[in-house]
Amino acid sequence: MTRLLLIGAGHAHAFVLEALAKNPAPSIEATVVSDSRYAAYSGSVPAWLAGECSLRETQIDIQALCQRAGARLIISPATGLSVEKREVTLKSGERVGFDVASLNIGSTLALPEQTSDNTPYLLAMRPLSTLHQRWQALQDSVARLPNGGEQRVVSVGGGAAGCETLMSVLAQLRQKRPDITWRGELLSAADALLPEAGWLPRGLLQRALRRANITVHHRVRGRALSAGGVLDTAGRCYPADIVLWATGAVGHPWLVDTALPLDANGFIQVTKTLEVQGIPGLFAAGDCAAFEPPLPNAGVYAVRMGPLLADNLRAACRGESLAKWQPPKRVLALIGTGDGRAIASRGALGFSGKWVWRWKKRIDARFIARFNPPFSD
Ligand SMILES: Cc1cc2nc3c(=O)[nH]c(=O)nc-3n(C[C@H](O)[C@H](O)[C@H](O)COP(=O)(O)OP(=O)(O)OC[C@H]3O[C@@H](n4cnc5c(N)ncnc54)[C@H](O)[C@@H]3O)c2cc1C
Repeated sequence: MTRLLLIGAGHAHAFVLEALAKNPAPSIEATVVSDSRYAAYSGSVPAWLAGECSLRETQIDIQALCQRAGARLIISPATGLSVEKREVTLKSGERVGFDVASLNIGSTLALPEQTSDNTPYLLAMRPLSTLHQRWQALQDSVARLPNGGEQRVVSVGGGAAGCETLMSVLAQLRQKRPDITWRGELLSAADALLPEAGWLPRGLLQRALRRANITVHHRVRGRALSAGGVLDTAGRCYPADIVLWATGAVGHPWLVDTALPLDANGFIQVTKTLEVQGIPGLFAAGDCAAFEPPLPNAGVYAVRMGPLLADNLRAACRGESLAKWQPPKRVLALIGTGDGRAIASRGALGFSGKWVWRWKKRIDARFIARFNPPFSD
């Protein structure tokens, strides 16, 4: 028997488990280590934040998927990995050995420094797996606000996720507390939003932000939370009551204490086969992997890596040669705007409307249904 260990139940590992379910490998003993029975699917996060679907509708049932794949599931997060002993240590204290292993644990972010005790309410957008707890706590705190008045919501981070989540959060807060005037501001370190996209999708995004009454500040890098606002790197203060922190993704801190090769952002350096550089039989995929050339931290790449990772893990268990992963040249980004519409962006192409939002929701629901019971083969 070859011991295959999947660390984290991210999007790529859902494909690995699906492949094991569809095409069982009697010589492979698979184990999954996850911090939760359910895994969040990133594509559905904006709809859930906007109050259009329940949390459960955005999740993959990892326990059911493991059962179908004949894999053992251990619910306890990994806190260490020894390359030498080929084992991971879990928060529970248990150690799990492996012959072949793969990491698909997503990413987190660096929280801002807090320069006062009286800082605005902070909602950190990563890690995604615990966002529901933080979002619920914010909604409870908003429910306790006195009637009327004004609240300023400032989002720090001008990536697609930052724009999308600010519009979704504002939509939900405006709906829940119509007595309050909600003002939105977005701080973006770059010169333009969606810098990799063409002028058309960029224009559509700017229009959507204007419609949502959001003011955008370009070339502003949020650094810290101060009394009543966000401080940027130039020392200016942007008044805020609630701050959404959606700055660039970084690797999970516990990886620093391992012998894994990490890039400057703390992501695990992999080769074209998704094998960790210099460590045969150990793989990484999705946000936690640093591929060359670098890729954006988006769920779509974790999804695209999934089928090849499944093949390569099976090949590694059998001592066969590995295939190379080819990143897609262009990907379709569907960005919800919190008003029942979405923007589709692919290279220079861009369009928006209510039908785009319905289309996005259908794609996301199909993706989640693929991995959840009742299974459709
Ligand atoms: C608010 C927000 C909205 C986003 N919206 C989109 C979008 O619409 N489209 C898109 O393509 N991308 C979106 N992204 C980016 C997307 O979330 C990530 O790129 C994507 O989730 C990465 O997938 P992954 O499989 O690498 O990791 P994840 O989906 O994060 O999965 C990692 C899994 O590992 C588990 N885990 C973490 N640490 C451990 C540990 N130590 N031990 C065991 N298990 C662990 C986690 O619980 C999780 O289940 C969004 C990001 C944010 C923050």
